[in-house]
Amino acid sequence: MQIVSCPSCGAEVRFKSHAAVMAVCEFCRATLLKDAESVKNLGTMSSVLEDYSPIQIGTCGMLGGRNFTVVGRIQLRYTQGMWNEWYVLYGDGGNGWLGDSSGQFTMSAERKVQETLPAFEKLRIAQPVHINGERFLPAEIRSAKCIAGQGELPFRVGEGWRIRVADLRNGEAFVTLDYTDGEVPVVYSGVAVTLDEMRCQLLRDDDQVKAGAGRFRGKVDALDCPSCGSAIKYLPGITTTLICPACKAQLDASGPQASVLAAGAKMATMNTTIELGATANIRGSEHTVIGAMVRATSGTGAEKWTEYLLFSARGGFFWLIESNAGWFQAKVMHRWPLWDPAAGDTARAENQDYEKSDSYLTTVVAAAGAFNWRVSVGDRVFVTEYENTSGTLAAETTREEMTWSRSTRLAFDQIKTWFNVGPKTVKGIPESEPAPKMAGTLQKFFWWLLGLNFIPLIFNFGETALTLIVAMVFICGMAVSGEDKQ
Ligand SMILES: [Zn+2]
Ligand SMILES: [Zn+2]
Repeated sequence: MQIVSCPSCGAEVRFKSHAAVMAVCEFCRATLLKDAESVKNLGTMSSVLEDYSPIQIGTCGMLGGRNFTVVGRIQLRYTQGMWNEWYVLYGDGGNGWLGDSSGQFTMSAERKVQETLPAFEKLRIAQPVHINGERFLPAEIRSAKCIAGQGELPFRVGEGWRIRVADLRNGEAFVTLDYTDGEVPVVYSGVAVTLDEMRCQLLRDDDQVKAGAGRFRGKVDALDCPSCGSAIKYLPGITTTLICPACKAQLDASGPQASVLAAGAKMATMNTTIELGATANIRGSEHTVIGAMVRATSGTGAEKWTEYLLFSARGGFFWLIESNAGWFQAKVMHRWPLWDPAAGDTARAENQDYEKSDSYLTTVVAAAGAFNWRVSVGDRVFVTEYENTSGTLAAETTREEMTWSRSTRLAFDQIKTWFNVGPKTVKGIPESEPAPKMAGTLQKFFWWLLGLNFIPLIFNFGETALTLIVAMVFICGMAVSGEDKQ
């Protein structure tokens, strides 16, 4: 440990890690750069946005038989949301990063690799990349900006520092390729973990989390819509997007002041069975319904359903889904299933096989409340479902991201008990035939477009247009093969 005095305020600043070159003074937020003999003040760092993470500087835990302590943090922001990278110091002198994004945790450290890795621009969601002989699939590709830092850090960062990263997954294995310094990425590899598995101590408790996040804006749970003035209930610090339930304006709530991103879109009135803001004690912790959205498929036999986003300080996020087929609960999987995008007919998770059952394109037709990523009416997601008797796995793909979630059926009686709602009246969901399964050709075509980086096409056109394109491709293909024969 090295102790220096802050050149700005005189307070003691400790460097626990030998690898740390920078520290942010916890009293005056001066950014201190450690040289051989001296400490330089680089100016003030913005304070971190108080969020709902239970992790804090000083949190310690154990993973794979190694003790670790959290000594620093950078907070990053990209168009869809925010996340934290916590710098950790191991008892054995090693160091690494604890990624913390909406309750999904990963632990990784820098590794050398044998292979030449693709350039940032060449990476595609779900297109395999081999790293030290293991096959990984890109799950997120994004550019982000550092918005704040705290504690000790191993490199010099400042506000506005830009990074380019891709997160790749293979089951529980996790890799970040960091292209910030050029076309040859720095590789961090590790695993997806849960808070419980890290056996953390000195976490913030629920009250500290609530008080901290509230202090950030000085109010705990109400905000006046900057567009229409009506009061919006929400959880400050958790949210990047708010959609005003009254005027449907889309608000950016990730900064100190909420600002209007887009005026209210004309959207279907949301008449939900469970109201926004409703709370329920679920599996021992208080959950709040913070957001709701209606998603739909298009074309003949189009279906509509409602998804409710629930949050609890310790349990994180989960979804309740209300559809013509009944109620379901779904949670984003922190470990990916074993799945081959080229074959794609099966997926395996927690020692169970799932068979492909459906694939479709969905569009958000209405949304209200708070979300932990940027939601807009018109957002398109390509969904592939895999089923077995115990539940359903769903892969959701956009041009920047792929996520897996697992859902199981819930009895309506359970919903009634949790939320004290009356007899089932599924409002705003018209009776309809089940959505047609997406033709195998369309499915293959999707992955083909993905390969050619034509993903924007998928999300800019509807299914009808896609079907037309598929038909055109086939006609062209037949014409070409016809010419070959002559
Ligand atoms: Zn200071
Ligand atoms: Zn409003």
